[in-house]
Amino acid sequence: MALSRSRNTHLQKEIVYGLVDSRRLGPSLGLNLFPGTKKVCSFDCIYCFFETPSHKVGDASPATREDVVRALDSNRRLVHKCQYLTFSGNGEPTLHPDFPAIVSDVAKKAQDFGRPLAIFTNGTQLSNPDVVSALKKFSKVFVKLDCGTDLELRTVARPHDKNMSVSGLAQSIRQFVTAARTATAGQRSSCKRQSTPGEPRTRLGKLG
Ligand code: SF4
Repeated sequence: MALSRSRNTHLQKEIVYGLVDSRRLGPSLGLNLFPGTKKVCSFDCIYCFFETPSHKVGDASPATREDVVRALDSNRRLVHKCQYLTFSGNGEPTLHPDFPAIVSDVAKKAQDFGRPLAIFTNGTQLSNPDVVSALKKFSKVFVKLDCGTDLELRTVARPHDKNMSVSGLAQSIRQFVTAARTATAGQRSSCKRQSTPGEPRTRLGKLG
């Protein structure tokens, strides 16, 4: 999923890119786990910002954990200017084989920098418990589902996995949102119990 306000047909060569003036997030610093010349995605949407065919993970050279940490460290000046550190870039970030470990690394850095995490995802990995667990570290998760029928899915989103269905995707997204809301409600109730009158309420993270 691309983080951009306007149509941008160029793939990102670097891991860190921007600042991008995001409509939803304000000034955001993009994190691209598939730097280089290939888009890596489980879809190949006909309207994709990147006018290049979509590849599977095995066809690309994903960034390593060390690469990502190093890229953040060498872009500290930009990190301090952004409102969000946003996983986006050349395709679908949750497809990265080390996605959970990279998120842990970046979340630690983000905490040091005092910046929240956001992600744009196509939701195809929400049936993977490791990905779902990693997404709990994000303040904002934007999931897209823009096909209403399997025919649209096949002709518009064009998934690599021909067995993918709208109902399967919708179910994963529904479960993810329900779990996130339950977790948020639990945090709220715990904060209420712990608050004394006049105390400011803890600011709660939000998924979705
Ligand atoms: S989900 Fe579709 S629009 Fe987003 S990066 Fe993949 S192919 Fe492009």
